[in-house]
Amino acid sequence: MSSPAINEALIRDVIEEVMGRLNGAKASAPAPVAAPAVKTGCGCHDGKHGVFATADEACEAAAAGFQQLREKGIAGRVAIIDIVKKMCEANAQEWGRIELEETKIGRLDHKIEKLQIIKLVPGVEWIKPYGLSGDHGITLEEYTPFGVIGAITPSTHSIPTLAGNIVNMIAAGNAVVFNAHPAASKCAAMAIREFNKAIEREVGISNVACIIENPTLESFGELCANDHVRLLCVTGGPAVVAAAMKTGKRAICAGPGNPPVLVDDTACMDRAASCIIQGGAYDNNLLCIGEKEVFVLDNTFSRFMSAMERNGAVQLNNAQLDALTKAAFTIKPGQGGGCSHPVVNKDFIGKDAAVLAAAAGISIPDGTQMLFAETGSDHPFVIEEQMMPFMPIVRVRGVEEGIQESLKAEHNYKHTSIIHSHDVNHMSAMARALDTTLFVKNGPCGAGLGLGGEGYLSFSIATPTGEGVTNPKTFTRVRRCIMVDNLKIY
Ligand code: NAD
Repeated sequence: MSSPAINEALIRDVIEEVMGRLNGAKASAPAPVAAPAVKTGCGCHDGKHGVFATADEACEAAAAGFQQLREKGIAGRVAIIDIVKKMCEANAQEWGRIELEETKIGRLDHKIEKLQIIKLVPGVEWIKPYGLSGDHGITLEEYTPFGVIGAITPSTHSIPTLAGNIVNMIAAGNAVVFNAHPAASKCAAMAIREFNKAIEREVGISNVACIIENPTLESFGELCANDHVRLLCVTGGPAVVAAAMKTGKRAICAGPGNPPVLVDDTACMDRAASCIIQGGAYDNNLLCIGEKEVFVLDNTFSRFMSAMERNGAVQLNNAQLDALTKAAFTIKPGQGGGCSHPVVNKDFIGKDAAVLAAAAGISIPDGTQMLFAETGSDHPFVIEEQMMPFMPIVRVRGVEEGIQESLKAEHNYKHTSIIHSHDVNHMSAMARALDTTLFVKNGPCGAGLGLGGEGYLSFSIATPTGEGVTNPKTFTRVRRCIMVDNLKIY
């Protein structure tokens, strides 16, 4: 039944309309109102395929993308993951080249391979609910999304980290906004644009993965502060991990490493040498899990050094090592009267062995992947996370000393450590002492990420915050749904 007030208003409107017509004048019509912008998968609205000028714009778009992803359900997540994995494989050659041209660090063959293996990152199959059924009813624990995640990516593997993060985060039902490393942001924006074009076309969702076009420390701050961002995932060195932890938001931090390797006298020397060269030379030692320094028992030292040469690495003498060290590090005076310390010269990070050899004053055969030399345990190449295809080899008197020196070199990052040994007691002693997230025995570092060892891949290994090798479950909230009653069917 209509109210008298509404009836009165209706009658007045009709009278006004009729009077207007009688007077030959048009009844005043309201100005046309533009239809609200509907965020659809058409790709023709403001967001330029996921690439935005500011963090706030990107977060707003990602929040809308998250809602669209919810509506598309698990099938939508599966379709997006399939697109990202297939595009990484199909474009590996071109995108690998583009990333290398922008960053100028690493090796083309490995830049390509790091994109081809994105297919090994797990997807929605990891999001399985946990069910309970008993005398008091049934309960379901489900792994649900956070919403929008803010993600920071490194210069060392920009597109692979971004693509791997998208797979993991979207498998869990989230949207993501990236603040890439400024030195690797163009290739990251290119990949986001291409992913979004395909996702818009094939799934009908826009901006589920967004990026800030010109990332800065300010845009990092804005991203972290945006209310849509419920979780941070940071992949990078000590400074960004510390910055993320100060934001007050939950942060999954994939921090720095300086992986030590211990070789004892029970190991197969050729196998140890070939694994160390394979892992340490990968992408010119840019991997956070890559072998960075080696401790070898005194009684097997010369056998190991010969094995390194047999397997293709080139040994430097003391004068050559000194020349390389002077070029690769600057000694900075300590602040406030503190100790001076070596700082890695960025011009040498991720450069080919031939570039390092030239700085050492020698030329090396084409295709040489790694240089090596005997050093002390306090040498800058041992202490600093150097990211160069040069391996410092330190002589130790026994396994205990090797473990203690490994512990010092690892800096308590709790990232990765490696042993080559056939003695289980040595393995256990090192595992207990170093307490690292990855502990590889008798393999190259990649074995820790399913590359030659059992397991799955991710380019973000959460070390200080403890989540380990990130996977879809890492990016979920556990929610419990309870129905109370006797619902047993048995
Ligand atoms: P980086 O720390 O220089 O940069 C990483 C990211 O953090 C970039 O996006 C950068 O712009 C940003 N950033 C740096 N300092 C910041 C600050 N104070 N505030 C806000 N943002 C800041 O690292 P990189 O050279 O690109 O990558 C190499 C480092 O990342 C190494 O230490 C390596 O071990 C680590 N890493 C770790 C993992 C892992 O899974 N644990 C993976 C890759 C790289």
